[in-house]
Amino acid sequence: MRIYDLILKKKRGHALSDTEIREFVSAYTEGSIPDYQVSALLMAICFQGMNERETSVLTDAISKSGDTVDLSEFASLSADKHSTGGVGDKTTLIVAPLAAALGCKVAKMSGRGLGHTGGTIDKLESIPGYKTALSAEDFFETVRKCGVAVVGQTGNLAPADKKLYALRDVTATVDSIPLIASSVMGKKLAAGAHSIVLDVKCGNGAFMKTPEEAENLAKAMVKIGASAGRKSSAFITNMNIPLGYAIGNSLEVIEAIDTLKGHGPSDLTEISVALAAEMASLSLGIEFDEAKCRAENALTSGMAFEKFKEWISLQGAKLEFAENPEKLAKASIVQEVLAESDGYIKSMDAEKIGLAAAELGAGRKTKDDEIDFSAGIILRRKTGDKIKKGDVIATLHTNRHASLTLAKELFFASFEIASDMPQEEPLIYKMIRE
Ligand code: URA
Repeated sequence: MRIYDLILKKKRGHALSDTEIREFVSAYTEGSIPDYQVSALLMAICFQGMNERETSVLTDAISKSGDTVDLSEFASLSADKHSTGGVGDKTTLIVAPLAAALGCKVAKMSGRGLGHTGGTIDKLESIPGYKTALSAEDFFETVRKCGVAVVGQTGNLAPADKKLYALRDVTATVDSIPLIASSVMGKKLAAGAHSIVLDVKCGNGAFMKTPEEAENLAKAMVKIGASAGRKSSAFITNMNIPLGYAIGNSLEVIEAIDTLKGHGPSDLTEISVALAAEMASLSLGIEFDEAKCRAENALTSGMAFEKFKEWISLQGAKLEFAENPEKLAKASIVQEVLAESDGYIKSMDAEKIGLAAAELGAGRKTKDDEIDFSAGIILRRKTGDKIKKGDVIATLHTNRHASLTLAKELFFASFEIASDMPQEEPLIYKMIRE
């Protein structure tokens, strides 16, 4: 294989053969093709696309480029979920124990936050004692005992994706449906679950800006799952507004605990119930509506919260923090943000709100930055709410006094106020099944 020929072929709009794709992925993973040639190929893929077969082969090659997790001992009960990233998205903290309470086996690897989006592993690390790195034996044993374990991604899972994603990030080649679909599904297939439920976010806080783009991505990923013999489905959900009211690690853990006890915000509860119910529906073979009823019951009966406590204590967390979440790290500065005019909140920019939270210390600008678990934002009002000048619309939590001015500027820039009530947008646009 000459990588030059592949670049030329794709540039002219032709499909690459299975062998060409597999050889390219393995040569790049082992370091025998330079970044500049791979960048050119990625850009050609961005412009010319890939057909279904090419996308499936690329995904398969990525998934087999390193270690794979063997969950066969859990047979069809193993279930995973993936969100394409959002602001205030703490669903894994709720969905993983909720699905386990319904009978799924959730052996999950999650990531850290970067830029305006948070990451599950950072949120879990804000619970003192929680271990995000377990030996393979402890990881499996935790799932055997309580049905759920969540750890950071191991170093050698889908290494081709790690290299390709890092290159895409600096060559403006992230926003391509075959490249995103193969990147996400490459990791999910390597992580081994039999059923995969995807939450494809769309809106200003997400990669996909419109429901149509999100649907195309969701369909591509569900097809890849099916062609790899996994049960997969996807929800297209709204990310024009942060999910729930809390943004920032400890603050999100507190909101997730409220939701697990059945008193969470309605949007977060609805999406969490839908994701857990679909995981149960696919892995237990029951109707979605039946699974949804069971999930709602598990929240209100306390079963889901009990499962959460069992899970985090098996991973080393101190239970006093789940029972009294107000003991989690608190910021030394809590500043109210007051509305400057009367009207309705017409829109919010989830990305800017995420960046404001990161500025306060809740996120990273580079992957080596330290996170302040106590920092973040609690929204008091969201899109559609009527506000009056002087109303508290949010509280900013930080230990960095110097960050307040910029965070406040970003926060104000994220709101649009109008005199008329805006039309309500759907929270879940669509469900895509095989
Ligand atoms: N998330 C991923 O894992 N990969 C992408 O390409 C985009 C989002």
